[in-house]
Amino acid sequence: MGLSSRQAPARFPFGRRLPCDIYWHGVSFHDNDIFSGQVNKFPGMTEMVRKITLSRAVRTMQDLFPLEYNFYPRSWILPEEFPVFVAEVHMMKDSDPSWKPTFIVKPDGGCQGDGIYLIKDPSDIRLTGSIQSRPAVVQEYICKPLLVDKLKFDIRLYVLLKSLEPLEIYIAKDGLSRFCTEPYQEPTLKNLHQVFMHLTNYSLNIHSGNFIHSDNVNTGSKRTFSSILCRLSSRGADVKKLWSDIISLVIKTIIALTPELKVYYQSDIPAGKPGPTCFQILGFDILLMKNLKPMLLEVNANPSMRIEHEQELSPGVFENVPSPVDEEVKVAVIRDTLRLVDPQKKKRKDVQCQTLEPVSEASEELLDAGPAERPEHDAGRSPEAGLPSLCLKQVFPKYAKQFNYLRLVDRVAALFIRFLGVKGTTKLGPTGFRTFIRNCKLSNSNFSMASVDILYIDITRRWNSMGIDHKESGMCLQAFVEAFFCLAQKKYKSLPLHEQVASLIEFCEYHLAALDEKRLVCGRGIVERRSAVVPCQTDGFRLTPAAHTPLLNRTAAASKFADYRNHRY
Ligand code: ADP
Repeated sequence: MGLSSRQAPARFPFGRRLPCDIYWHGVSFHDNDIFSGQVNKFPGMTEMVRKITLSRAVRTMQDLFPLEYNFYPRSWILPEEFPVFVAEVHMMKDSDPSWKPTFIVKPDGGCQGDGIYLIKDPSDIRLTGSIQSRPAVVQEYICKPLLVDKLKFDIRLYVLLKSLEPLEIYIAKDGLSRFCTEPYQEPTLKNLHQVFMHLTNYSLNIHSGNFIHSDNVNTGSKRTFSSILCRLSSRGADVKKLWSDIISLVIKTIIALTPELKVYYQSDIPAGKPGPTCFQILGFDILLMKNLKPMLLEVNANPSMRIEHEQELSPGVFENVPSPVDEEVKVAVIRDTLRLVDPQKKKRKDVQCQTLEPVSEASEELLDAGPAERPEHDAGRSPEAGLPSLCLKQVFPKYAKQFNYLRLVDRVAALFIRFLGVKGTTKLGPTGFRTFIRNCKLSNSNFSMASVDILYIDITRRWNSMGIDHKESGMCLQAFVEAFFCLAQKKYKSLPLHEQVASLIEFCEYHLAALDEKRLVCGRGIVERRSAVVPCQTDGFRLTPAAHTPLLNRTAAASKFADYRNHRY
């Protein structure tokens, strides 16, 4: 559906004559004929939140920042990591014989609990047939979840990714708690198959005879998250700390997803060409452990926004009836998303920009979902004055200062994108990789260009052999990240990985800024001397983005270069 400011809402594709302000896609970003306005989906988001891709993206961050990313269960990708899975489990069992783990196997791309099963031992995996043809993630099973009324439950929180660059994230102040329908027991060989005890999916538990539809948000098999927080608070739990941990989990997860999303974005909506901007509502599924630590289960790119449920009135006769719990949470999320992306508001904002409050300073205290906010400072004057306060709370850039140090892979992705060359691609060719090495001055007597080619071929071949995307040849971002980590380890041997990577990023950015400055000077020379021909090094196959960036950015790049030089030398 497209919503134009000049016409009544029109259902796509019929009736769409004029460009719309907001395009509301049902499942994923798919319309390449949009040149303006805003689309409610990011290109590539559906691929990014698949179980395998998400596990990979989080694992890269776990390699860099193991403590910060300990909110995601240890995971292995099947079938390719089956031998590693077996070996690691044996090793852990050997070092701690009292460890009696359970694992959960989840098919990639599955949803609603489809195809999921629990196992006690790697040898229980149904490797024959299904796993070979349907890749999956196997994960450590969280055996001690927090129980309410003796039941396991998970939390669905709605998160608005309002912008990728600059990063803007909002979290809804209330969510849903979805309950199992059989009292929980820690997994044993006997109860492993009892889905109503172990899986919290609404779509499964609805079929249990014990499912309770309730009009009250505090009871039943689906409740508001705020009702759980009230219960916990009355038991003396530190609910503020819990919110802070949840906000941190959400921001860190999105930081893990952004590098690849940016690659998809520049491919579908190339910089410099007319295109829409994007925003997206994501559904975060979170499990609370007994000690109240939140653990990420998965991210949904297309969370259900249904506000009614099916009820069996008499045997075999179903009817859709309103669900007050869903309505309370979801209507607010959609309403506030539209308020936040409202193009009219943006125009008003531009007019009044001098009177706006600055974005809140990052707080050093606990991250706080805070009290209900007024939507804008102009409450009372704006058309929103009569609406309830916003349920969506900005957490980024509000808390940017606390998380920016984690955004290393984003900077690696920026290097990758710079050398991609042909617009619309997502993979780096061998020439692009060589140019990257040459321009960043990474090749030397110990690391010849022949070794560069071998590194490129080795890593690219391995990633392409396990990749899902065979459409393009070349090196994907994850492969580039792996190569980059290798180079960083080689160059800065004794440091921890994140410091090695940070040092190499700075090294590369420094040399590229120097190159950009040189080109800027060359460019000026050309302009000044008009017709003189000035020899000037290029990236080899295209001009660098610096040649096209606005002067402000280039000045910033040049002064960054000067800063770096002053500090280093
Ligand atoms: P799906 O997309 O099929 O719903 P999920 O990853 O959400 O897959 O898993 C389904 C359910 O299984 C979750 O809602 C949760 O109740 C349970 N679950 C998933 N992973 C774990 C885990 N690592 N530990 C404990 N329970 C889990």
